[in-house]
Amino acid sequence: MPPLDQVEGLEAWFAPALETETWARSSFIDDGAPLHNEDHAHLQNASIGFLWTNVENAKKGRLVIGTAEPGTPQGAMGKWGRAKAVMQIEQWFGSVPDFIITIDANWWLQASDAEACALIEHELSHCGQATDEFGAPKFNQTTGRPVFTMKAHAFEGFVGIARRYGAIEPGVQELMEALQQEPILSVDMIGVACGSCQSKIA
Ligand SMILES: [Zn+2]
Repeated sequence: MPPLDQVEGLEAWFAPALETETWARSSFIDDGAPLHNEDHAHLQNASIGFLWTNVENAKKGRLVIGTAEPGTPQGAMGKWGRAKAVMQIEQWFGSVPDFIITIDANWWLQASDAEACALIEHELSHCGQATDEFGAPKFNQTTGRPVFTMKAHAFEGFVGIARRYGAIEPGVQELMEALQQEPILSVDMIGVACGSCQSKIA
């Protein structure tokens, strides 16, 4: 839990949530964790910095309650700007982690246990391992560590969240609603539209 006085204070606030990382690992990532999810297995070898903030972040009218990003500062920055950002991250976490997950502490305080778990697993689902041209997990040839990369809101990565928490993601909810309606094109009609499909459908 983030400290109440900081969350409700008037000053913009960011602070490392080291105990949240410990909890996330022992709940979802570690072998034998009570809510272990194989999708996060590569993160056993990743360093993840968790960050609380009380700064509200709304985007296109939707409240952003969490983000996942690479630990190394991204985007166009001058040398001093980058050095300042790196120094700040090192002060928070001791070193630059592979990923940084930022959580809206105000949202967290009122979230149910399941909502909190779903947010963490959603953000962990963005923290991916790169694959080679054959689709195999990629490792650094010198260090042997996984090569980490951000995963976009690709559908397959979020099937696991839906399986565990239901249709809580906006896109998944829309998809489910769409699937519950009578499809405009029935399977028979697709068979008519494409001759190559007919044998498979039958
Ligand atoms: Zn996301």
